[in-house]
Amino acid sequence: KDNDVLIEKLETQHDIEKEEIVMLLALKDPSKLYQAADRVRRKYVGDDVHLRGLIEFSNYCNNTCFYCGLRGPNRTIKRYRMEPEEIIQCAKYGAAAGLKTIVLQSGEDKYFKINTLCKIIEEIKKLDMAITLSIGELTTKDYAELKKAGADRYLLRIETTNKELYQKLHPGMSYENRVRCLMDLKELGYEVGTGSLVGLPGQTLEMLADDLIFFKKIDADMLGIGPFIPCENTPLEREKGGNVEIVLKMLALSRLLLPDINIPATTALAVKDKEGYIKGLKCGANVIMPNIGKDEYKKLYKLYPGKVPDNPSEAVNSLENIKKLILSQNRTIGKDKGYRKKILN
Ligand code: SAM
Ligand code: SF4
Repeated sequence: KDNDVLIEKLETQHDIEKEEIVMLLALKDPSKLYQAADRVRRKYVGDDVHLRGLIEFSNYCNNTCFYCGLRGPNRTIKRYRMEPEEIIQCAKYGAAAGLKTIVLQSGEDKYFKINTLCKIIEEIKKLDMAITLSIGELTTKDYAELKKAGADRYLLRIETTNKELYQKLHPGMSYENRVRCLMDLKELGYEVGTGSLVGLPGQTLEMLADDLIFFKKIDADMLGIGPFIPCENTPLEREKGGNVEIVLKMLALSRLLLPDINIPATTALAVKDKEGYIKGLKCGANVIMPNIGKDEYKKLYKLYPGKVPDNPSEAVNSLENIKKLILSQNRTIGKDKGYRKKILN
């Protein structure tokens, strides 16, 4: 009963206390929470699901994030870099398939000079597409140059807002610099996406509630939230990994707290649960990111296991599979660039 009141308050006021978020994250039967998020999703961002064509252009990484298969010290994976021309070819394929956003993602690979990235961005902009970058922590100046070249959005998950846990999982990195990056990106006029990994060892519901409060405080434009999936040859390979239901509660609460933002049903959610995309779309999500890169590289971008089956066209995140899935849910495929609607601001 109390929980019903809380959900109603969230649905109408889009604000709630931390203790109340924790209560909702602990709900035994979250169906009413999910339904409220679905109503708010429809009211603010409609039935469109925006497709963002993902190109994973390099799997080299200098960082050592404990959860990630691409971490620098992992010598067991084969590394690759796409040529600028190959990246542009993939973007052209995406444009021809009707996509309106390209996401360029990589490890933190210092090989690509900002200048080179700017040239790639300029070429892709000629295709009349929005560009999202997801290439990690850079200097203020670098972010400014990429913006000037035409980048529209940036994805940089905070991963966890608990400083102690953050420091433990990211040796050599700093929580303060991560936040500095997000602030710079906002200031420079990017649409800013952040988000968390759910199910990190030592993470509590209180910490997840703090993550949601952080997202609201910085007024995130996009939120990518997915389960942590343990990856072989990383320090966390024997951990348990994230729980699908908690991810769905985080999606629903994100939608209720920030009604007009873009929220993907993440690939990790779909890898963890066969029905992951569908469940995500029913709990507030309105974005999916099909992988439009080359098959030979998809296999090598191994953040976690299960991402790419032997036959990549059978991957959960292939464009064809995703289009079918969206229509099967009586949702529509977004035809425009799908910027944040900013209804409340
Ligand atoms: N290097 C950039 C960065 O870290 O922001 C972009 C690429 S990184 C692979 C993108 C996201 O993958 C990270 O923000 C992290 O949350 C997610 N990721 C890494 N390892 C993962 C794992 N084992 N399970 C689920 N997600 C993972
Ligand atoms: Fe590198 Fe990003 Fe993986 Fe961290 S999450 S190791 S920065 S690719």
